[in-house]
Amino acid sequence: MLCGDIGQPGLDICHDCEVDLPRLGHHCQHCALPLPSPEQTLCGHCQLMPPPFQRTVAIYLYQYPVAELIAGFKYNRQLSYGKVLSLTGLNGFVSAYTYEFPDIITPIPLHWRRRLKRGFNQSEQIATYLAKGMDIPTLPLLQRSQFTPPQQQLDAQQRRQNLRGAFEATQNLAGQCVAVVDDVMTTGATATEVSKVLLEAGAGEVHIWVLARTP
Ligand SMILES: [Zn+2]
Ligand SMILES: [Zn+2]
Repeated sequence: MLCGDIGQPGLDICHDCEVDLPRLGHHCQHCALPLPSPEQTLCGHCQLMPPPFQRTVAIYLYQYPVAELIAGFKYNRQLSYGKVLSLTGLNGFVSAYTYEFPDIITPIPLHWRRRLKRGFNQSEQIATYLAKGMDIPTLPLLQRSQFTPPQQQLDAQQRRQNLRGAFEATQNLAGQCVAVVDDVMTTGATATEVSKVLLEAGAGEVHIWVLARTP
């Protein structure tokens, strides 16, 4: 997938390229923002205003070549890129938990118009690989009630406004711990909005799982 060498069994990436993928180092325990000092456990933002989700598990840094692979996956239907990043990231999601995994995995939904255009939901694909690898059920707990413009061109405040009221929960969650899967976390606006919705629907805890975190 990257260097043209033969991939590993069932995976379009060779061992050397997999080892070279930029993994997230020391980071904020809440939102996974990379942090320079090992003594710091929370970023400044989470210290001032803790997000509604309990924790974020992110595997890669959103930089070359992970950023290009995620773009190819989402916008050019390179489904094997999503598979490679999900499966090479699987161990990171497993080892983030010492005691119990979350009860349910749920993908961030796309509005049906965007899903129709793209042909698939990238978060659903990632969630399916992780659910299978960790033996956790995956359920569509969220639905997108509004069509919102893409987040990429917006600043942090606009992203929050853009998403207000965009999601609804599909069922009562009766204290369960829910892992919400997305491809990338940038400002955390989506994670914050869906967490509020899931907690209002009775979730006990919400964890955010992403393949990559922007520095
Ligand atoms: Zn390679
Ligand atoms: Zn943080």
